[in-house]
Amino acid sequence: VDILMKRKIIVLGERSVGKTSLVTKFVDNQFQDSYFPTIENTSNKSVTYDGVEYDCDIIDTAGQDETAIFPPKHAAAIHGFILVYSIASVKSFEAVKVIYDKIKDFRPEQNIPCVIVGSKVDLPDRKVPSHEGAAFAEQIHASFVETSAKMDKNVAEVFKLALVEVEKCSPNKKDG
Ligand code: GDP
Repeated sequence: VDILMKRKIIVLGERSVGKTSLVTKFVDNQFQDSYFPTIENTSNKSVTYDGVEYDCDIIDTAGQDETAIFPPKHAAAIHGFILVYSIASVKSFEAVKVIYDKIKDFRPEQNIPCVIVGSKVDLPDRKVPSHEGAAFAEQIHASFVETSAKMDKNVAEVFKLALVEVEKCSPNKKDG
């Protein structure tokens, strides 16, 4: 590895969908059942993918309410977006669509590097079918993955996909 790329990835979604849990599982390999609302927290982790080392700042946001769902101060500086809903909450899935529209308002360019995440797949009471999440992701040309931070399912995949989406949308020439 001889290249270091800085990447800013933001994790957005309704309160309590498991954003902090995803980030904490990925960065510290820890999971907590108790809920501590996040204000905003940036974690750093270096990820090597496809021969490139990425120095990732992962911004974990507070659960957004309906009016302030996307903090504009972040809009310009962010490389990739991770939009999280819980598969047990239709409301959180609808929130992801609203958040996406808000990002679009700030970034009217063609493609937004984005991963749609259906979280908490270990829960028995699924309310959002996989195909609905996948269909929305396809519609906005985003990646889609279902995860469980609790069971450590597809956690690293989320962040790998985010890097892939960033490269897809703004290819960086590795070879000059
Ligand atoms: P945030 O507000 O979106 O950051 O949500 P948190 O990460 O704080 O999680 C909210 C609650 O959901 C906490 O009680 C977590 O333990 C729980 N949680 C997070 N991820 C999972 C998961 O994959 N499965 C289950 N069953 N619970 C989870």
